[in-house]
Amino acid sequence: MRKKELESLRKKLVEQKEDIKKIVQVNCKGEKEFLSGEVGDIADAAFDSVERELLFELNDNERRILGNVEDALLKIEKGTYGSCEKCGKEIEIERLKVMPFAKFCINCKSQMESRPK
Ligand SMILES: [Zn+2]
Repeated sequence: MRKKELESLRKKLVEQKEDIKKIVQVNCKGEKEFLSGEVGDIADAAFDSVERELLFELNDNERRILGNVEDALLKIEKGTYGSCEKCGKEIEIERLKVMPFAKFCINCKSQMESRPK
Protein backbone atom coordinates (compact mmCIF):
# COMPACT_ATOMS: atom_id res chain seq x y z
CA MET A 1 0.00 0.00 0.00
CA ARG A 2 1.26 3.46 -0.81
CA LYS A 3 1.86 5.98 1.93
CA LYS A 4 -0.62 8.40 0.42
CA GLU A 5 -3.35 5.77 0.39
CA LEU A 6 -2.62 4.80 3.95
CA GLU A 7 -2.78 8.40 5.04
CA SER A 8 -6.17 9.00 3.41
CA LEU A 9 -7.55 5.81 4.95
CA ARG A 10 -6.24 6.90 8.33
CA LYS A 11 -8.04 10.20 7.92
CA LYS A 12 -11.27 8.41 7.11
CA LEU A 13 -10.92 6.25 10.20
CA VAL A 14 -10.32 9.27 12.41
CA GLU A 15 -13.39 10.97 10.92
CA GLN A 16 -15.51 7.90 11.53
CA LYS A 17 -14.32 7.75 15.10
CA GLU A 18 -15.13 11.44 15.61
CA ASP A 19 -18.58 10.95 14.12
CA ILE A 20 -19.41 8.24 16.60
CA LYS A 21 -17.95 10.20 19.48
CA LYS A 22 -20.09 13.17 18.44
CA ILE A 23 -23.16 11.10 19.17
CA VAL A 24 -21.88 10.73 22.72
CA GLN A 25 -21.00 14.39 23.04
CA VAL A 26 -24.37 15.57 21.76
CA ASN A 27 -26.03 13.30 24.28
CA CYS A 28 -24.24 14.88 27.22
CA LYS A 29 -23.63 18.41 25.99
CA GLY A 30 -25.86 19.78 28.74
CA GLU A 31 -23.80 18.20 31.51
CA LYS A 32 -20.56 19.39 30.00
CA GLU A 33 -21.64 23.01 29.82
CA PHE A 34 -22.93 22.84 33.32
CA LEU A 35 -19.68 21.36 34.64
CA SER A 36 -17.15 23.38 32.68
CA GLY A 37 -18.59 26.66 33.93
CA GLU A 38 -17.13 26.08 37.38
CA VAL A 39 -14.13 23.98 38.16
CA GLY A 40 -11.77 23.33 35.22
CA ASP A 41 -9.87 20.08 35.71
CA ILE A 42 -12.38 18.55 38.02
CA ALA A 43 -15.12 19.28 35.51
CA ASP A 44 -13.06 17.64 32.77
CA ALA A 45 -12.55 14.55 34.87
CA ALA A 46 -16.24 14.43 35.65
CA PHE A 47 -17.06 14.84 32.00
CA ASP A 48 -14.74 11.99 31.11
CA SER A 49 -16.66 9.64 33.31
CA VAL A 50 -19.96 10.91 31.95
CA GLU A 51 -18.64 10.28 28.47
CA ARG A 52 -17.52 6.80 29.37
CA GLU A 53 -20.92 5.98 30.74
CA LEU A 54 -22.62 7.30 27.66
CA LEU A 55 -20.45 5.10 25.48
CA PHE A 56 -22.53 2.26 26.82
CA GLU A 57 -25.58 3.95 25.41
CA LEU A 58 -24.37 3.63 21.87
CA ASN A 59 -26.21 0.92 20.04
CA ASP A 60 -24.46 -2.36 19.26
CA ASN A 61 -23.70 -1.39 15.71
CA GLU A 62 -22.09 1.92 16.64
CA ARG A 63 -20.06 0.29 19.38
CA ARG A 64 -18.89 -2.45 17.03
CA ILE A 65 -17.82 0.08 14.42
CA LEU A 66 -16.05 2.20 17.03
CA GLY A 67 -14.15 -0.88 18.20
CA ASN A 68 -13.18 -1.81 14.66
CA VAL A 69 -12.11 1.74 13.87
CA GLU A 70 -9.91 1.87 16.97
CA ASP A 71 -8.39 -1.51 16.10
CA ALA A 72 -7.61 -0.27 12.63
CA LEU A 73 -5.97 2.92 13.91
CA LEU A 74 -3.88 0.85 16.30
CA LYS A 75 -2.78 -1.36 13.43
CA ILE A 76 -1.76 1.67 11.41
CA GLU A 77 0.48 2.70 14.32
CA LYS A 78 1.99 -0.76 14.53
CA GLY A 79 2.40 -0.95 10.78
CA THR A 80 0.26 -4.05 10.39
CA TYR A 81 -2.71 -2.30 8.84
CA GLY A 82 -4.15 -3.63 5.61
CA SER A 83 -3.45 -7.32 5.97
CA CYS A 84 -6.18 -9.89 6.38
CA GLU A 85 -6.42 -11.25 9.93
CA LYS A 86 -7.23 -14.69 8.60
CA CYS A 87 -4.92 -15.41 5.67
CA GLY A 88 -2.42 -12.57 6.14
CA LYS A 89 -2.69 -11.34 2.57
CA GLU A 90 -3.11 -7.69 1.74
CA ILE A 91 -6.71 -6.51 1.80
CA GLU A 92 -7.74 -5.03 -1.54
CA ILE A 93 -7.32 -1.25 -1.54
CA GLU A 94 -10.72 -0.80 -3.18
CA ARG A 95 -12.27 -2.68 -0.30
CA LEU A 96 -10.45 -0.56 2.27
CA LYS A 97 -11.61 2.61 0.56
CA VAL A 98 -15.21 1.54 1.09
CA MET A 99 -14.64 0.04 4.51
CA PRO A 100 -11.37 1.31 6.01
CA PHE A 101 -11.78 -0.83 9.13
CA ALA A 102 -12.15 -4.11 7.23
CA LYS A 103 -10.26 -6.90 9.00
CA PHE A 104 -10.46 -9.57 6.33
CA CYS A 105 -9.85 -9.78 2.63
CA ILE A 106 -12.81 -10.30 0.37
CA ASN A 107 -12.07 -14.03 -0.02
CA CYS A 108 -12.01 -14.78 3.68
CA LYS A 109 -15.01 -12.56 4.26
CA SER A 110 -17.14 -14.28 1.66
CA GLN A 111 -16.04 -17.69 2.97
CA MET A 112 -17.12 -16.69 6.45
CA GLU A 113 -20.44 -15.39 5.23
CA SER A 114 -21.25 -18.44 3.16
CA ARG A 115 -20.43 -20.84 5.97
CA PRO A 116 -23.66 -22.18 7.52
CA LYS A 117 -24.18 -21.20 11.14
ZN1 LIG B 1 -7.90 -13.35 3.86
